[in-house]
Amino acid sequence: MKASVSGGCSCGAVRYFSRALTEQVSVCHCRDCQGTSGSAFAVRAGLYSRDLEVQGAEAIAMHVKPGASGRATRRSFCSRCGSQIFISFDAIPDLIFVQAGTLDDSSWVNPNIHLWCGEKQPWVAVPADALAT
Ligand SMILES: [Zn+2]
Ligand SMILES: [Zn+2]
Repeated sequence: MKASVSGGCSCGAVRYFSRALTEQVSVCHCRDCQGTSGSAFAVRAGLYSRDLEVQGAEAIAMHVKPGASGRATRRSFCSRCGSQIFISFDAIPDLIFVQAGTLDDSSWVNPNIHLWCGEKQPWVAVPADALAT
């Protein structure tokens, strides 16, 4: 686990920094994450909303949709290059999650939680020691 993180979108218009991380690094296999990522799942690291600093916020566009809780799920992406950067949930306002592929250094990322495994692609294997829901 790292003490601080930085990252940004593919074109560099949006950059973010955080001094603290949560312990949560998750993989989400839900259909929405498959669709919005254009891939089989999303990998993300949890940050504390209060610690997040963003540069280039004017380039961020947001797609808002009700999540499983009935409250909004907010997916932020760069309006210039389309990189998904953040996802947040109105049901848990203290946290914001960065898409792990946007981290400058993602070598430490080791997901310990797999979410929505009921919608998982059948060829994706969840490690036996991960928490799966
Ligand atoms: Zn960009
Ligand atoms: Zn998902």
